[in-house]
Amino acid sequence: MKKVNVLGVNFDNKTFNQFQNEFIGRLNNHESTFIVTANPEIVMAANENPEFMKILQTDADYITADGIGIVKAAKLLKTPLPERVTGYDLFLWLMKLANERGLRVYLIGAKPKVIHSVQAKIAKNYANINLVGAEDGYFKEDLDLVARRIQRTQPDLVFAALGFPKQEKLLSILRKNATPALMMGIGGSLDVFSGQVKRAPEVFQKAHLEWFYRLVTNPTRFKRMLVLPRFVMKVHKNKRGNK
Ligand code: UDP
Repeated sequence: MKKVNVLGVNFDNKTFNQFQNEFIGRLNNHESTFIVTANPEIVMAANENPEFMKILQTDADYITADGIGIVKAAKLLKTPLPERVTGYDLFLWLMKLANERGLRVYLIGAKPKVIHSVQAKIAKNYANINLVGAEDGYFKEDLDLVARRIQRTQPDLVFAALGFPKQEKLLSILRKNATPALMMGIGGSLDVFSGQVKRAPEVFQKAHLEWFYRLVTNPTRFKRMLVLPRFVMKVHKNKRGNK
């Protein structure tokens, strides 16, 4: 099975390694590519927002399972996905690749302070990257105008860290304009990359308790996490409905 449907969102049934190979191929061919890394929150948001669902169903070229919740849901639905493929891991790998190849990278998102420290980190540790744009995510212009600004710089890679669904809306415009770049929404990844927010220690990641670490270190996320039990219930309901 090439795609795995979890509550209306079609995930690509691929390993991290398979995604890497496909993305390299598309980068080499300068194919316009829009990647969504979807977690349970995104799936639930899409179920409540038809415009967002349409972007995922018709504009995205790839959808990866960002989080153990999706992998577990797929298993429960008896259509397992091989592994979790997170936006942050893909981002780190693509930044390394960009540095090796001297690619043109456009970053948009996060607070001004964060994007400044990201720029400094790139200058220091990824000096070979051609950073053609680095702007914070609190712009006032409409997304079409922002998309045009990005296109003019002719990037190879575009990372939008605006949170969903704003980042996917922006990237879907670029994708519809056939911008020949690999483009991915990365949520709060720049906050982590800059060191502003710490990623969970490996023990938490391995125990699939990254969400718990985040909750404890950032209790304001509690309200957002209430969507998770609703996701689990909906998956169960969906499973029963399929019988
Ligand atoms: N953000 C932004 N512009 C906005 C709203 C949010 O650039 O109008 C940024 C915010 O600073 C943060 C990221 O988007 O860096 C979203 O992070 P969050 O932790 O909500 O995303 P997640 O990784 O959970 O999807």
